[in-house]
Amino acid sequence: MIKEVFKPVSFEEAVKLKSDDVYYLSGGTQINWTPVTQQRLKEGKPEIEKVILLKDLLSAEIGKEGSAISIGAGVTLQEIIDSDKMPDALKKAAKYIASRNIRNMATIGGNIAANRADSYVIPCLIALKADVETVDEGIMCVEKYAREEKISLIKRIILPPLDGVCVVDAVYKSSGSYPSVTTAVMVSKKEVVIVVGCVSKHVVRLKKLEQSVLNGSLSGSDLAVAVEAEVNPIGDLLGSAKYKKYLAGTMVAHSIDLSFKEQSRKGA
Ligand SMILES: Cc1cc2nc3c(=O)[nH]c(=O)nc-3n(C[C@H](O)[C@H](O)[C@H](O)COP(=O)(O)OP(=O)(O)OC[C@H]3O[C@@H](n4cnc5c(N)ncnc54)[C@H](O)[C@@H]3O)c2cc1C
Repeated sequence: MIKEVFKPVSFEEAVKLKSDDVYYLSGGTQINWTPVTQQRLKEGKPEIEKVILLKDLLSAEIGKEGSAISIGAGVTLQEIIDSDKMPDALKKAAKYIASRNIRNMATIGGNIAANRADSYVIPCLIALKADVETVDEGIMCVEKYAREEKISLIKRIILPPLDGVCVVDAVYKSSGSYPSVTTAVMVSKKEVVIVVGCVSKHVVRLKKLEQSVLNGSLSGSDLAVAVEAEVNPIGDLLGSAKYKKYLAGTMVAHSIDLSFKEQSRKGA
């Protein structure tokens, strides 16, 4: 239970207040959520009692910065969906969180920092080559922030222009369950990005396969088999490890196929 709340007046003060047992609080949908608290206790971690309120510090603006889009870390997932500046793939990713009430509170910065393996937004941001600007460590790509389990205070997200096609996908055991596997791919003339969620502690980018997909030497069922070999999911109520591997393979192969078709349709 939260017992003490800090309300800093500057980013610098917020960073100074942060310590191992003091947490940033943005939308609060992850930090205040009973299953998350229960999971912490199960892992032997203490309950969260002290938080730093970010609401008044974080920008909730979506703006243009040259050819890039700047998204304040305080922008909610619903605002992403409602904005006409956002790529369709990111809107679709945000909408995968089914509850509008949650989407109205949950922020994009909080989603990245929560760093959940089943985040819908992180795979899409990685595929879109997005960066985060942090107060304590400057600008870095979203992939690095997630992979290195950063806890730096996120100020904003920078989305470069999409010079290709981005496709996101998610498969569920049932309409109310969390995803068994999530994927996001981006295909352009110069680059392919492949990202998979729910198959390890964090969302993973399958860099090793991307060049072969780009040069056309890996596609279809061969690509599906290669993806299966690259991911190491854990079996749970949402699917066995073997099933999640199979899903990851087929979803990536299908999304890549769709992206190439869409890319050549756009180029025609
Ligand atoms: C019913 C339900 C279903 C959900 N389903 C999903 C799901 O399927 N996938 C998913 O990814 N999430 C899910 N969530 C979790 C959560 O809603 C999202 O991850 C959300 O985007 C978190 O944003 P927030 O602003 O509420 O974060 P908060 O709860 O405020 O914070 C989350 C974490 O990020 C840190 N933090 C917050 N803002 C920042 C910042 N700007 N810089 C640095 N650190 C920060 C906090 O200290 C905390 O550790 C679900 C939540 C609920 C209640």
